[in-house]
Amino acid sequence: MKANCWYGKRDVQVVDVPEPDILNSRDAIVKVSSTAICGSDLHLYNGLVPTMEKGDILGHEFMGEVVETGSDVKKLRTGDRVVVAFPISCGSCFFCRRELFSLCENTNPNAWMAQKLFGHSPAGLYGYTHMLGGFAGGQAEYVRVPFADIGAIKIPEHLSDEQVLFLSDIFPTGYMAAENCNIQPGDTIAVWGCGPVGQFAMKSAFLLGAERVIGIDRFPYRMHIARKNTGAETINYESCDVYETLMDMTGGLGPDACIDAVGMEAHVPGMMGAYARAKQAMMLESDRPHALRQAIFACRKGGTVSIPGVYGGFDDKIPLGALMNKALTFKTGQTHVQHYFGPLLGRISDGDIDPSFIVTHRLPLEDAPKAFELFLNKQDDCLKVVLKPQ
Ligand SMILES: [Zn+2]
Ligand SMILES: [Zn+2]
Repeated sequence: MKANCWYGKRDVQVVDVPEPDILNSRDAIVKVSSTAICGSDLHLYNGLVPTMEKGDILGHEFMGEVVETGSDVKKLRTGDRVVVAFPISCGSCFFCRRELFSLCENTNPNAWMAQKLFGHSPAGLYGYTHMLGGFAGGQAEYVRVPFADIGAIKIPEHLSDEQVLFLSDIFPTGYMAAENCNIQPGDTIAVWGCGPVGQFAMKSAFLLGAERVIGIDRFPYRMHIARKNTGAETINYESCDVYETLMDMTGGLGPDACIDAVGMEAHVPGMMGAYARAKQAMMLESDRPHALRQAIFACRKGGTVSIPGVYGGFDDKIPLGALMNKALTFKTGQTHVQHYFGPLLGRISDGDIDPSFIVTHRLPLEDAPKAFELFLNKQDDCLKVVLKPQ
């Protein structure tokens, strides 16, 4: 089969690889109908996350048709159309029983690697380093789905691939980020980053009752999509001082909650940017947490900073003084996608949201290398690419 594989920094290639087999009785094989590139795939593409190996199949946002099931798969049948959650979860451990699916204890065979970096390991993920399990990803014609009854949700025929594909990651990720803000009536929520997760965080903040949402970015097309499709206001951080502008917009209080939907590769303007890039390149700092610093600084006293953006390691100059003295709450985590599957499929079916608004590019799987370049460089106003295996 064809699969999009990682070969090093800025090097992905679509190559022929063996088709996956059922390895365990709770596995299913899914024939992929649509798959997407995630912003977090760009961290791998940029060579910033350790424990990738040449030939690893990328991709953790995918859906398709069940073509084979192991003997202990109970809920799924051959022919079912499904979306698959990006964390692989057993459904029965301490964490899964509490619906903290991205923290599953049983699905990362390389947990010892993650423990060295984090103290404990999160769940195994598709197509996202050997430290997180070394599982083959979904930018391929077929994928093996472990614990398929837990990780896949059946999709009714009347919904299109593009309406439901993002249940795999970024819609629940944006939604959980907004839910983590504990939104009260009248609240103002600021969102750093008008990328795909930022867009869903903005839309979700309104779905959860926010009165006002402010998106922060520098690309006019991304801010335009946010205003048009989510109802957010936007500010361009290249043409204003973010802190001053947010204070002006909130009567000096600051936003009630701040969402960092940027993560480890923040664009940092000017001299500070060169300094941050150099430190990251020399491994003196794992991430460039510029958006996070701003979010902590701007958040109103007693407010919440919610972090769906991906961070990898150890970072400097996080303003803990502001965090402590302003009594802020931090909420974060890889998304517990399976917890949100049912409710968010309901939101889509009921017409509360049509997640397909973020799709700007559709390409065949063979064009994955071109798609990564488009997405990385934000060429041709690219916000989200859907890849279709032939
Ligand atoms: Zn993702
Ligand atoms: Zn589990």
